This record gives sequence, structure tokens and C-alpha cells, in this order.
Amino acid sequence: MLFGRYDLFIPIFCSPEIFCYTVFMPAQRQFRFECPDGDIIYTVQTSLRAKHVRLRVSPREGLVVVVPQGFDRSQVAGIVAKRLSWIRKAFGKMPVVRSPEGLLPQTLSLRSIGEEWCVFFEVSRKPECCFVEKPGRILEIHSLPGGLNTQLDLLREWVKRKAVTELLKKLDEVSKQYGFLYDKGAVRCQKTRWGSCSTKRTISLNMKLLFLPPGLVEYIMLHELCHTVYMNHSQRFWALVEQKMPDYIVYDRAMREASRYIPQFLQW
Ligand SMILES: [Zn+2]
Repeated sequence: MLFGRYDLFIPIFCSPEIFCYTVFMPAQRQFRFECPDGDIIYTVQTSLRAKHVRLRVSPREGLVVVVPQGFDRSQVAGIVAKRLSWIRKAFGKMPVVRSPEGLLPQTLSLRSIGEEWCVFFEVSRKPECCFVEKPGRILEIHSLPGGLNTQLDLLREWVKRKAVTELLKKLDEVSKQYGFLYDKGAVRCQKTRWGSCSTKRTISLNMKLLFLPPGLVEYIMLHELCHTVYMNHSQRFWALVEQKMPDYIVYDRAMREASRYIPQFLQW
């Protein structure tokens, strides 16, 4: 699998004595780390799946410290203090979040398939809210006055449908090109993963891939297809990726910056 956003994994020792029996979890409570260069605000989330502490920075949630269940939360401030330079760098790379109204795009650059769409938002008093595709790659979003959330939902729905058609077609082509078999393809809107491959060889692709350049999309698909052979990131896995795509490292590095291609309304 491949992660998006800016994630930092920190190995920790979790001794059995610090197992926490408290069920109450102030999931959205914000903490402040006071710092002369500007305070850092963060939230702490407990994850049942997490084995290590992870720092995550995104425009929507800011800094989130993900901790394994039972982790001693009094250590979190110390971890934030140690990772200040990484946190500041990650925040520096974030696109500026605009007001909700500013999230509505005028154009959509579907780089993966080389299509540029113009978007028009039509407000009417008719009860039906829908999107309409017109010749010349024009997308009209029809909604009621003040229906910003409906407009955003319709846009996301259109992107999802487009992604299902285009990305699954591309996955089929890439699998044939590189000689892989998979069971099923699916498109999701994951928050942190670009793609994943299950033990049943179902490949899930993030609909946001639609906005990435074709080379990066091909790399993600190849990466997940290689997981149909090795369900891990072992040396043998990477050797297979390299055998199929000798310059994969260029794309793998470029994926670190790939969230800049994603429009604001999908990051909100
Ligand atoms: Zn992987």
C-alpha cells in the first residue's frame, strides 16, 4: 500500500504495564504545544491497528498524533517536541486552505487521462440537484440556492464515477502490459492511501489518482499489482517492482509531493 499526505512513523516500545483500560477517549480534544516560533495545535487519536506512534498533517485535520491503544498519552507532548522540524516542514508543504466557497473549482484537470473540464455551478429553485455533462468537456452542477454542501457532494460523486470508469480501465491495461492477474478492481476515496491490494487480490484505487500525471498513476497500479505476488514490502517485492519498471524510484519519490495535484474540495 502507499500512503498519501505527510505521515511520520515513530517506533516505540509499548510495555504491557501501560495498557490503558479507560474507554473514554477525547477524540477531538485539541492540545497546544507552546513554542516561541508559534504554538503547535494537535489532536490525539487512538488507533486499534497502529503499532507505532504516527504523526499526520493534513489541511483538513491539521496535526494528528495517532497512537496505538494503551499508549501512555503523557508522552505525546515530548514526541511533538522532538519532531518539531518535521512538523513545520509538513505544514509548509500544505496547500493554503481557502474558505468553503473558495473550494468550488472552475476547472478540473484530470491529468491521468489528459482531460480538462470546465465547471459551472447553476443555482435554481427546481428541487432536483444533479450534474450534467455537456459537449466540450463542460460540467454543470445544478443545485438549490445556498447548497454548497450539495454542490461539493455532486462534484465528488462525478469524480468518483469518472474514476470508476477511467481508473479501472487503466488498471486492466496496466495489468496486461506488465503481465499480472488480479481478481477485482475497486475505487474508493481513502484518506491516507493511494491504493491497496487485499489477500483476495482485490486492488483498491483512490479516486484522487484521476488528478495525478499518468506516469504516477501507472506506478501506483504496478506497485499494487506487485502486491498480488508479494503481500509485503520485502526486498523481493521491490526487486519485482524494479524488474517491471526500472526507473520506479523516480515515481516513488514523486509520490511524496503528489497531494499538490489534488483539488481543495477533495482535501476538505
Ligand atoms: Zn505497498
